[in-house]
Amino acid sequence: MQPKTLITVAVGDGIGPEIMTQTLRMLEAAGAALEPEFIEVGEQVYHAGYSSGIHPAAWESLRRTRVLLKAPITTPLGGGYKSLNVTLRKTLGLYANVRPNRSLHPAVATRHPNLDVVIIRENEEDLYAGIEHQQTPDVVQCLKLVSRPGCEKIVRYAFEYCRQHGRRKLTCMTKDNIMKLTDGLFHRVFMEIGQQYPDIEQDHQIIDIGTARLADTPERYDVVVTMNLYGDIISDVVAQLTGSVGLAGSANIGDGGALFEAIHGSAPDIAGQNVANPSGLLQAAVLMLGHLGQHDVAARLHNAWLCTLEDGLHPADIYCPETSQQKVSTVEFADAVIARLGREPRQLAAMPAREAATPAPTVSPAPLYDKAPVQQQLVGVDVFLRWDGKQADALGRQLEILTGRRMQLKLITNRGVKVYPDGHPETFCTDHWRCRFVAADALVSGSQLEFTPVPFMDVLFLLHRLVDFNFYIIKTEHLYLMDGQRAFSLGQGE
Ligand code: NAD
Repeated sequence: MQPKTLITVAVGDGIGPEIMTQTLRMLEAAGAALEPEFIEVGEQVYHAGYSSGIHPAAWESLRRTRVLLKAPITTPLGGGYKSLNVTLRKTLGLYANVRPNRSLHPAVATRHPNLDVVIIRENEEDLYAGIEHQQTPDVVQCLKLVSRPGCEKIVRYAFEYCRQHGRRKLTCMTKDNIMKLTDGLFHRVFMEIGQQYPDIEQDHQIIDIGTARLADTPERYDVVVTMNLYGDIISDVVAQLTGSVGLAGSANIGDGGALFEAIHGSAPDIAGQNVANPSGLLQAAVLMLGHLGQHDVAARLHNAWLCTLEDGLHPADIYCPETSQQKVSTVEFADAVIARLGREPRQLAAMPAREAATPAPTVSPAPLYDKAPVQQQLVGVDVFLRWDGKQADALGRQLEILTGRRMQLKLITNRGVKVYPDGHPETFCTDHWRCRFVAADALVSGSQLEFTPVPFMDVLFLLHRLVDFNFYIIKTEHLYLMDGQRAFSLGQGE
């Protein structure tokens, strides 16, 4: 008999305990060689005073097992609570979120019978760094952090996933027409790494039209790789197109561990009623079995699940008089899956054991670039001020006077729009002003500014002067050239 693998299990909140109990029953009946070890996470832990939603003792189990099967949890509303999911993903370095979506036509009603799309979402960076600040009474900020190693890991992972799963096409989605540095880096890395995978068809789409096309004709897509926020949104869109968010599972993969969960939340509106669909968590468990190398059990369980759906035994969320035979409870659905273990579906495509193979490989490639030679050169500074005046010209004139001989004021923007010099009186201004200073000897040639190096002392001197003149500095951002290339965005109208 196969030795049992220790896994960590979190039963979650809301419908979590109901669907986890039934999922564990189905796993056991299918012959999964697993030894669950339970940890406490979620609502109770938050209310016990742990703002991350996880009891400190639970980390010990996670470090030992390196595999977590987790039911959804409820994040309490209000400030001070951190998302447990984000904490787990980032602390354990689970950089890839893999969400396979496949229509179950004709068993489950859907307008897209041929949908078969895998969304691979970057899981650690982007706006989910969770770094937010209120900077002035008017303005709050969320930092979008994107790193080259982070992009390389997820993009290479997606290409490897395609190869391992016989997928033919990888589509990258970003918004690099607007965010040229952050999203631009993701896109550039996709093109660079893509050269090493000529066997995979490659495509890039701007996220807005990409989402529209995905929602309209998902059958045109195969595998999509994208950034954290976009991936969060489009994976729910695609799951819903298959019939219900209650059907899909996801794998969060890192070099040192993996977390498997349903994509839906804790559904407090139906908790405790024995009506929740356990399919999403079951699908997560199937992905976990593949990850653990128990491919036969994964396929057996998945195929019994397909048979149950084919036989029209449907929980309430996918019940439809035209396609369903009977509306079943959570427990009845699990009973039906267990009764069908060993059977293969008649119409739906059965899962061959090999397809349950590791949801995706874990890869930690050597960085493509060599850090050492990059030359970083300071050429200016953006000083962000709180200023309660309204006339940008008045601010601009004051700053011009006190700037000194070594730095010059280049422009002022308000929420990214140029307001000085030559602003438009119609532009609405908040109390948050970005003032760009460059070296006094920087030259404008044609419409282009030629940046020249700025000693850091000149920046410090400038800041001193601003403080002396009672300006309220809320933050600064340095302007750099990297290997002679501008490494900051131009102000609008600059
Ligand atoms: P939700 O996914 O819990 O529910 C949305 C709708 O889908 C509800 O009508 C619900 O009844 C239905 N639904 C969801 N899963 C179902 C299932 N398995 N069977 C039948 N119907 C199902 O989303 P929400 O209401 O926005 O969030 C509820 C709570 O869940 C929130 O506290 C949220 O923070 C949390 N949440 C947790 C996770 C997670 O732990 N991974 C993910 C998303 C949301």
